[in-house]
Amino acid sequence: MAARTRLMRRATARNVREAVRWMSSSEISDSDMRCRPSVSHKGSSSSSSDPGLRSVQWVFLGCPGVGKGTYASRLSRLVSVPHIATGDLVRDELASSGPLSKQLAEIVNQGHLVSDEIIINLLSKRLEDGVNKGESGFILDGFPRTTRQAEILGGVTEIDLVVNLRLREDILLTKCLGRRICSQCGGNFNVASIDIKGENGRPDIIMAPILPPEHCMSKLITRADDTREVVKERLRVYHEMSEPVEEFYRKRGKLLEFELPGGISESWPKLLQALKLDNLSEEQSAAA
Ligand code: ADP
Repeated sequence: MAARTRLMRRATARNVREAVRWMSSSEISDSDMRCRPSVSHKGSSSSSSDPGLRSVQWVFLGCPGVGKGTYASRLSRLVSVPHIATGDLVRDELASSGPLSKQLAEIVNQGHLVSDEIIINLLSKRLEDGVNKGESGFILDGFPRTTRQAEILGGVTEIDLVVNLRLREDILLTKCLGRRICSQCGGNFNVASIDIKGENGRPDIIMAPILPPEHCMSKLITRADDTREVVKERLRVYHEMSEPVEEFYRKRGKLLEFELPGGISESWPKLLQALKLDNLSEEQSAAA
């Protein structure tokens, strides 16, 4: 059983690596994508794709500022799988001043998407590093962001569930502009205080700020791509390039739509209910 589990873990990373090799070796057209056989290997992906035998493989979708990172990282702790945010991988690469960083800075700071090839390279490296450390399963946040990425992911492993977080667009902009990061500990906070009266039968939305502890206060920074102009562009790009990904998974019966009713204290228990994880959460608090 242990050997089988190890094989399953390796299968995902190896298949992602194969996908990258395939992508780099040829220009991929839409017709290629339809005609080419899946890049998965016989005998490996079949086991890695059996959700009954491995850790969860989930995806979080949603517009910039919706809170994908917040909820995906909480859930990853609850179900004991890594939270892998491609935005974080891009920012790590930017901070490393490596060969890609100048090119990436230009793209990210204009609110555009990094090429599928670069992002899949970063992700496959992260998955491989995780496999080498004994990680299994994942919650992906910010990937896939194009249908092409979704097709490539579907060719290498089975996604069990896709959570699509939703929130009103005017709130998304305010939340992005309120985002702050502690430059020392890396903690994520939000200084925006949202209190919007519901209209046309919609409920009020109240989201309290997520304030940093005293010792982080003087070290807060704002992401370079969280300016009004760039956030608007990221939202536009999301509607154009990433909304079709919602449809991709909806058609496959994997999409769970979740409209955030408010801040974390209100939304978290409801999200757990929607995921049928409320029992797990109670067991963990009882054990703590
Ligand atoms: P957001 O708050 O817009 O969801 P992220 O932190 O997920 O931002 O990503 C930041 C930036 O990193 C994106 O605007 C984009 O330039 C790049 N990026 C992240 N994930 C992807 C992806 N899957 N494909 C292409 N570009 C990506």
